[in-house]
Amino acid sequence: GCTTQDVIAALRAGAAVVAEHRDELIQLDREIGDADHGENMDRGFRAVAAKMDTTDPETPGAALKLAATVLISTVGGASGPLYGTAFLRAAAAVGDETELDAAGVAKALQAGMEGVVARGRAEVGDKTMIDALSPAVEAAKNAAESGADGTKVLAAAAEAAHQGVRSTEQLVARKGRASYLGERSAGHIDPGARSTALLLSAFAEAAG
Ligand code: ADP
Ligand code: MG
Ligand code: MG
Repeated sequence: GCTTQDVIAALRAGAAVVAEHRDELIQLDREIGDADHGENMDRGFRAVAAKMDTTDPETPGAALKLAATVLISTVGGASGPLYGTAFLRAAAAVGDETELDAAGVAKALQAGMEGVVARGRAEVGDKTMIDALSPAVEAAKNAAESGADGTKVLAAAAEAAHQGVRSTEQLVARKGRASYLGERSAGHIDPGARSTALLLSAFAEAAG
């Protein structure tokens, strides 16, 4: 199962992938936003990794909750509260379980997505991180139901998320800053969808 140490390793891997793709996320956000998504995410996940150096959460839920509070206070923009809420809801969903099985991983992902929807009211097709998260949750549920372990659940989620990212390119944004561009937002990938897929890939690799 997925232990507290696995969750911490996943969060550190998330920080690494966001740092590595910082400029790419900035460029994507430059095209349809205000060019800060890479900076916002790098600042936030750097702070999450630093928090893991100085604290010792006792459960997966406690690690996720710590990440949530750090993200809420450091990322900023539209994505900060959304990612913060996602991790907060994921933490609440796993409660004080000491180890997550495949169903627990899928449940945490689903709760995270529901948090983003509750906060941002975006639907699939609105050209947001929901276009990566929603197929990821669906794939994770299917994988868990067909007997995959937690690592395979995350891998399935990541693969579906990357397909979701590609689907955002043709879409016209209906939520967030990109929606100000109207039809001109089409032809560009959504930065928040891209960061979601990158994080899920990093979590899957850290778990595997
Ligand atoms: P800001 O737009 O405030 O500068 P960021 O650049 O950090 O914030 O994040 C932008 C990303 O946030 C978008 O690419 C999109 O994926 C996501 N986003 C914005 N609004 C919403 C929303 N209402 N629901 C879900 N995701 C959203
Ligand atoms: Mg931005
Ligand atoms: Mg901004």
